[in-house]
Amino acid sequence: MAENGRTDAREDRILPFQLESGPVRGRVVRLGSAIDRILRPHPFSTPVKELVGEAAALAAMMGASLKFSGRLTLQAQGDGPVPLLVADYWTDGRLRATARVAHAPAPDARGLGALVGRGHLAFTIDQGPDMDRYQGVAPIEGDSLAAAAAGYFARSEQIPTALSLVAGRVQRPGEGEVWRAGGVMAQLMPGGEGDRDLWARAGALLETTQADELLDPDLSPERLLYRLFHEEGVRAFEAKDVRAWCGCDAGRIAAVLARYDEAALAGMVEDGFIRAACDFCRTEYLFDRHGREVAA
Ligand SMILES: [Zn+2]
Repeated sequence: MAENGRTDAREDRILPFQLESGPVRGRVVRLGSAIDRILRPHPFSTPVKELVGEAAALAAMMGASLKFSGRLTLQAQGDGPVPLLVADYWTDGRLRATARVAHAPAPDARGLGALVGRGHLAFTIDQGPDMDRYQGVAPIEGDSLAAAAAGYFARSEQIPTALSLVAGRVQRPGEGEVWRAGGVMAQLMPGGEGDRDLWARAGALLETTQADELLDPDLSPERLLYRLFHEEGVRAFEAKDVRAWCGCDAGRIAAVLARYDEAALAGMVEDGFIRAACDFCRTEYLFDRHGREVAA
């Protein structure tokens, strides 16, 4: 449900699809109010918010393919002005994302290579406390998160992958500006290796995706798929809903503060309180000088 109570079938959804003409599968993600709720509270500059939005869209697009319940975490770490980029997607549709900004990027710096810098991209799949975690890591290649993710799939998973990602602000007539994000990815499935023509066509069609199509609030994901792949024939499967969610609470932060002694806690006090804001949703929690929560 959208925040105003109406269901909007065009946003906050991940739509899996398969081409009729051969073994190519993929997913389209369209994020509206979910990504606006994630990005709006962050104090980041526009290029950093765009990158966080792309990371959220990518995590959702990848995590939605998991066949079990759990969490997929995307992390990019590097030596640039934004040394950490994180997005978490839970298979029941919850999504959150943030970044750490070490120093202000150059005004024209945009994209993963310029902001995160040289480093690596990691995907962790967590199925709960009793299960092994899986992690795949690849060096950051290319300037964009989409290029780095395609490089990850080629290198770590040996799956030919084409993808397009975008996040940006959109304003409809008579409404305020809102953040949106979108993406589309296609993968050549096992058995399709011999069909190089099909894969070349699918990749070329995906490359025709325009950023404004991925962000357009009035274009449904089904319609976008048809625009892209109608020549090949395309079949969509049941969509998954996405929602912004964090899950932080004061108790968890209090548990962290409890590890510090009284002198260290006293050093954290500003204007009579210890203030701690959640890195993901920016909710601010207040504690007294002993690390006990103070109702805001
Ligand atoms: Zn939070």
